[in-house]
Amino acid sequence: TFIAFEGGDGAGKSTQVARLRAALESAGLSVVVTREPGGTEIGEKLRSLVLDHGQGTIDARTEALIFAASRAAHAAQLIRPALEEGKVVLCDRYIDSSAAYQGAGRGLGIESVTDLSLWATENLLPDLTVLLDVPLGAGRSRAEARGAADRMESESDDFYASLHATFGRLAAANPQRYAVIDGTGSIDDVHAAVLAAVTAHLKE
Ligand code: C5P
Repeated sequence: TFIAFEGGDGAGKSTQVARLRAALESAGLSVVVTREPGGTEIGEKLRSLVLDHGQGTIDARTEALIFAASRAAHAAQLIRPALEEGKVVLCDRYIDSSAAYQGAGRGLGIESVTDLSLWATENLLPDLTVLLDVPLGAGRSRAEARGAADRMESESDDFYASLHATFGRLAAANPQRYAVIDGTGSIDDVHAAVLAAVTAHLKE
């Protein structure tokens, strides 16, 4: 089962992925945790390539292609093999992050960027996408508080508003694979909601 976590910076994705892994492992499941950009050796190199450059210094199409290249490696070398072994794969960000950041944020078009990723991954979509929803501004302050916002400082409020709106629209357009979870509560509360959604999905 392939489960992706999506949401803006500071939504709590990494924390919730770690909590979910622990819960699923204690239920006896075999879990692989991975993240994007990154996940494979080449993917981690591509991640540093993009993140070490200030926002806006890489041309938008170049950036979209680097993310897509990283995702191609990730799908072929890590995610598909793990799924074939019957593991649960938890992925911190996936295709919909590109749709939001490069498609909407960078203005390349949600559909084009999604198509690029579908080509890169040979149409590998998550069985379930957990969207951690936090109000505009809240995630950004959390990300800034942990010093993770360096790459985003140059982004406008409009950029964040369009990310937020895009995740919401993608969730509304794909209700069969999306669980939208309110990410504003305590870590324990959000974890309980995530676990309930994932457990319901695993039982389907
Ligand atoms: O998820 P994480 O915080 O590790 O992402 C690293 C950075 O990459 C974030 O600042 C995010 O804004 C950026 N990113 C991006 N486009 C993507 C995925 C992530 O600009 N498709």
